[in-house]
Amino acid sequence: MKIQVDLELCQGHSVCLEECPEVFDVAETDEGYPKVLVLNENPAEDLREKVQKAAKFCPNHVITIIEDECL
Ligand code: SF4
Repeated sequence: MKIQVDLELCQGHSVCLEECPEVFDVAETDEGYPKVLVLNENPAEDLREKVQKAAKFCPNHVITIIEDECL
């Protein structure tokens, strides 16, 4: 799977980091609030559940999981 985030819409809530710190971090930006940082764009299958939770609970719904067969 591949992780895609829409940085334009990310507002740094850090829910993604709480759900899956192996894949997501949050860092300060010049815009006055933090934004997500994808640490691993191609996480292993054993992280799928955590990545799915991050995508599900992201308040702005900016995390997309693209399946390998769609790449
Ligand atoms: S939870 Fe969503 S909006 Fe918040 S930092 Fe993570 S990706 Fe961005």
